[in-house]
Amino acid sequence: MVLSVGQPIDRYASSCGYCSPPGERSKTDSSRTAAALNALQLSPEVYQKMINRGWRRSGRFCYKPHLRSSCCPLYTIKLDVLSFKPSKHHKKIVNRWNRFIQHGDDASTGKQKGKDNARFDLRSSIHASEFRDGQDQVFAHRFEKYQTGIHHDNTTPQGFRNFLVVTPLHQEHIPYLSPQSNHLPTHYGSYHWCYRLDGKLIAISVIDILPECISSVYFMYDKDYEAYSLGKLSALKENILAHELHTAGVPFLKYLYLGCYYVHSCQKMRYKGEYHPSYLCDPESFEWYPLATCAELLSQHRYACFSRPERSLRGDPGPELVQDFEWSDPQEPEERALEHISVISEVDGSQISVITANACLFLLHRGARSGSCFEHHISALISDLRSYSHSIHEFRDFLYDLITN
Ligand SMILES: [Zn+2]
Repeated sequence: MVLSVGQPIDRYASSCGYCSPPGERSKTDSSRTAAALNALQLSPEVYQKMINRGWRRSGRFCYKPHLRSSCCPLYTIKLDVLSFKPSKHHKKIVNRWNRFIQHGDDASTGKQKGKDNARFDLRSSIHASEFRDGQDQVFAHRFEKYQTGIHHDNTTPQGFRNFLVVTPLHQEHIPYLSPQSNHLPTHYGSYHWCYRLDGKLIAISVIDILPECISSVYFMYDKDYEAYSLGKLSALKENILAHELHTAGVPFLKYLYLGCYYVHSCQKMRYKGEYHPSYLCDPESFEWYPLATCAELLSQHRYACFSRPERSLRGDPGPELVQDFEWSDPQEPEERALEHISVISEVDGSQISVITANACLFLLHRGARSGSCFEHHISALISDLRSYSHSIHEFRDFLYDLITN
């Protein structure tokens, strides 16, 4: 069994990039997280459970947005790849790209009108312009070009590494039920899917392959090819890869989690709703609801709760809601949930001792009551290992946040 190891980070608020003009961020810290974690190692199974409860990762950094108190709630969205039907627009994108690769046709000329729908098979069409050439290599300057050209951000090669290369996901063998096809990946984990044209890297898609889905982490492309909608093309390719993995004998892998989140309040991010049938994760029950049935609630509220519509909220989060987020005690988890979490209690050279979270909290509370030095001892270790937690209460709160979220 692969242990998943994480270092706690306190809940925090940050500025938002969805409700400001392009390239700008909100003036106030109006986007809030419910919990965050610096993951040292995650098994694909544990990370799958996390993203099914609204978490995402950026490098090793994992976070779960607090939708109720954020200006632009971020909903996890997944596409059912087995039932996916490409739209006319999607077919056009694939055909245009294939024509460009095979015949050098320019995107701007709009040739071959009307032929895009004739006998279209997404699976064969999507592979038509591909070839595979060995090891993936990522070039930071491509990313810099993308970030400065498209997002107007300044970045560094180190920032690129931390954001898009480093991963906490442990590579685990995919247990195919049938003989594995050569071009399919052998392991769950993080991949860079590189798009090259005549040897030149023109786009990179960062994806995680997990037991139930392909989760797209990030996509970046060369601005020279903007006219070919490479972001949408990559989503179609990832959809086909998920479909192929399922067909090759990974029965539970049936979904594509579209990059990051669905943001209904941001017109630019609504394109994720173009893929049908897709589902949104309910922010309170973590059940999945068809996007089509969520539309009305989303358009009438800032915060939409699909499982309990009466809990939906209109208008920006007021001071009460923000205060509630900042000062509320975290929900106490069930005892059995704590049994699955271990806390490092002692480090002696290369020996690391762990105890269950239950035992840890029990000892901490007993220590606090009797005034023994145990409290001091364990909190010293905790603050060594967990630089963001300085007291028992903070540590307990963090643990509760993490487990109940
Ligand atoms: Zn916002």
